[in-house]
Amino acid sequence: MAIDGPDLTRQSAATLADAISSGEVSAEEVTRAHLDRIDSVDGAVHAFLHVDRDAALATARAVDAKRSSGAALGPLAGVPIAVKDVLTMAGLPTTCGSRVLEGWRPPYDSTVVERLRAADMVILGKTNMDEFAMGSSTEHSAYGPTRNPWDLERIPGGSGGGSAAALAAFEAPLAIGTDTGGSIRQPAAVTGTVGVKPTYGGVSRYGLVALASSLDQAGPCARSVGDSALLHATIAGHDPRDSTSIDAPVPDVVAAAALGDVRGMRIGLVRELSGEGYQSGVQQLFQRAVEILTNLGADVVEVGCPNFEYALAAYYLILPSEASSNLARFDGMRYGLRVGDDGQASVEDVMSLTREQGFGAEVKRRIMLGTYALSSGYYDAYYGQAQKVRTLIARDFANAFEKVDVLVSPTAPTTAFKIGEKVDDPIAMYLNDIATIPVNLAGNCAMSLPIGLALEDGLPVGLQIMAPALADDRLYRVGSALEQALVDAWGHLLIEEVPSL
Ligand code: GLN
Repeated sequence: MAIDGPDLTRQSAATLADAISSGEVSAEEVTRAHLDRIDSVDGAVHAFLHVDRDAALATARAVDAKRSSGAALGPLAGVPIAVKDVLTMAGLPTTCGSRVLEGWRPPYDSTVVERLRAADMVILGKTNMDEFAMGSSTEHSAYGPTRNPWDLERIPGGSGGGSAAALAAFEAPLAIGTDTGGSIRQPAAVTGTVGVKPTYGGVSRYGLVALASSLDQAGPCARSVGDSALLHATIAGHDPRDSTSIDAPVPDVVAAAALGDVRGMRIGLVRELSGEGYQSGVQQLFQRAVEILTNLGADVVEVGCPNFEYALAAYYLILPSEASSNLARFDGMRYGLRVGDDGQASVEDVMSLTREQGFGAEVKRRIMLGTYALSSGYYDAYYGQAQKVRTLIARDFANAFEKVDVLVSPTAPTTAFKIGEKVDDPIAMYLNDIATIPVNLAGNCAMSLPIGLALEDGLPVGLQIMAPALADDRLYRVGSALEQALVDAWGHLLIEEVPSL
């Protein structure tokens, strides 16, 4: 595949990998192009918290040397990638967007990072996020918000807004995100990119700083379905260091993306995930995408998932409960920030000062909510009830997947909102996750892909495809068929319409 333009940053990951392995360009040139792009636009976008320039160039040169020696290169060798700052990478800071981890350099690589390295990918740096992955706008980062390349006054989604914005600003062709309630998919939707939350247990959580361990999952962020598949295949698969990692073959997502054929597939429209509360431009584009899927030969029916109505409420009890426990480890003793340690202060005082100054308001809110929900007098009423709802949601999915192969919905109820618009209104912020949360609660998989620009504001809209656990390949089959039909209509990927920065 030949490089078809002068700018290496506008190429797909697949094109770059082919050009590097055929010797058309060097990995070093590709890396330099992306580092230069970061230098010129990241002041405005703020997708990155740390850029690892020297190590990225050293890796790129090592890939070039490997190629010159005649050794075979893997499918993404030499391709640059950005990693959300919630995954550990030896030697580089890992802040999770929080002051409390300022200065901490983990001594080990997460499994995801290890696999990227083993695939000879070039890690450019770490991307911005809402503090401890709590949020839908990246405004809760202690290091300032990331801006949406479609409109710098708007949010890029969250919590993984940095990874999505890096793709949309052509600072990286691929990125890693994590998705506990939508943090890969919602940023993808509002930035016109592709994001996948793999089946729970499909990608190792080893080295992923825990938010809510029963929901957290790392996954691929890309500008196309095919690129996402290549990255998905690189990071997925069993890891004995994560006890919830699934010991089963990874579905062949690359083949499914190449097939991209929905003829005869049964697709369910989730009745509860549309209508009231969804912006009209989102609904219009969603309906048009469904018509396209029908025209491509899918059998589309409406499906009811009555308990989805309670998903948001259950999630905002389960997540804070788990988070309040997981975040207890940030005590000023073991990692990063330590406040008030004057040699006289008690351990308790140092812990409480560190936590008071180290955590932002949203994190404190959730720690308090979670601690309350788990307290002995309220455990059954809140946490216990929420767990029952979780079971009912899993049953809704199981019933639906008896009738259909995949479910679809809009990914997010609105397009990107303005920075500052919802940051002081937690409920308004939480409502962004209405369509993404059921999948996390049930542990199955989902993809968001762009389906157009909303009529009223010209901003990108995403469609969500949901599949049963371990059927991640279906996401790619449907996603690539829809993407191909849209590309045929537009003549290019939607992301090509992003304003130049
Ligand atoms: N918006 C969700 C939340 O605030 C997303 C979390 C996530 O997926 N990390 O909890």
